Amino acid sequence: MYRVKEAFYTLQGEGAQAGRAAVFCRFSKCNLWTGREKDRASAVCDFCDTDFVGTDGQNGGRFETADDLARHIRSLWPEAPGCPYVVCTGGEPLLQLDEALIDALHRAGFEVGVETNGTLPAPAGIDWLCVSPKADAPVVIEACDELKLVYPQPLAMPERFEHIRARHYFLSPMASPSLPATGDDPVKQSNTRKATDYCLAHPRWRLTLQMHKIIGID
Ligand code: SF4
Repeated sequence: MYRVKEAFYTLQGEGAQAGRAAVFCRFSKCNLWTGREKDRASAVCDFCDTDFVGTDGQNGGRFETADDLARHIRSLWPEAPGCPYVVCTGGEPLLQLDEALIDALHRAGFEVGVETNGTLPAPAGIDWLCVSPKADAPVVIEACDELKLVYPQPLAMPERFEHIRARHYFLSPMASPSLPATGDDPVKQSNTRKATDYCLAHPRWRLTLQMHKIIGID
C-alpha cells in the first residue's frame, strides 16, 4: 500500500533540473516531523512549509500496488513528446518508495527523481537523487546527484556535508514557514543574501531559488 498526499503536473522549480516538466508525487508522512503544528517545536525538522499529512490532496489517495500508482502518475503526464519525469517527494518519500515502485515507474516510461532528507537508504534504480539534509538528523546516503541544503541551518551548515559525493552542491535560502509562499518574506530576503555571500566565498556551492514560488505555480 502506498499513501500519497497529492500528485500534480508542474515544472521542477529548484536545483539542476529546474524548469523541467515533471509529475510531483508527494508521499504522506515524514520521519523528522509529524506534520502537525502542535509538534513543530519538538520536531527534528522545524521549518517545514509542506502539508504531507493524510491522502486528501489533489490526486492523492491510497494505492494497493506499485502498478496502480504508476498508472495513476502516468495519467497525469500529457500525451506529448518529451521524456516523462516523476519527482518522488514528501514528506519523506523513502519511507515508502521501493524497488517495485521504481520498476513500475520505469515500465510506465518515467525517469525517476527523488527528493529525500537523506536519513534512509535509497533503493536501487533511482535516476536522479537529490539529498536535502535537515538539522542534526544523521545522513546515511553518501553519494547523490545533487545535494540541496536549505540555508542557514545552525545544525546543518555546508561544511558538515562536504564528504558527500554529488554532481551539484546547492544552497536554497530558508523561508519563513509561517508566511505565504509568495509575497514579501524579510527572513527569506536576509537568508538569500547570506546564501549568496556563502556561495561567493565557497564557489563549490551554487545558489538555487524556488522558481515555482517566484512565478506562482505549485
Ligand atoms: S524533512 Fe522535509 S518533509 Fe520532513 S519535515 Fe523536514 S522539510 Fe518537511
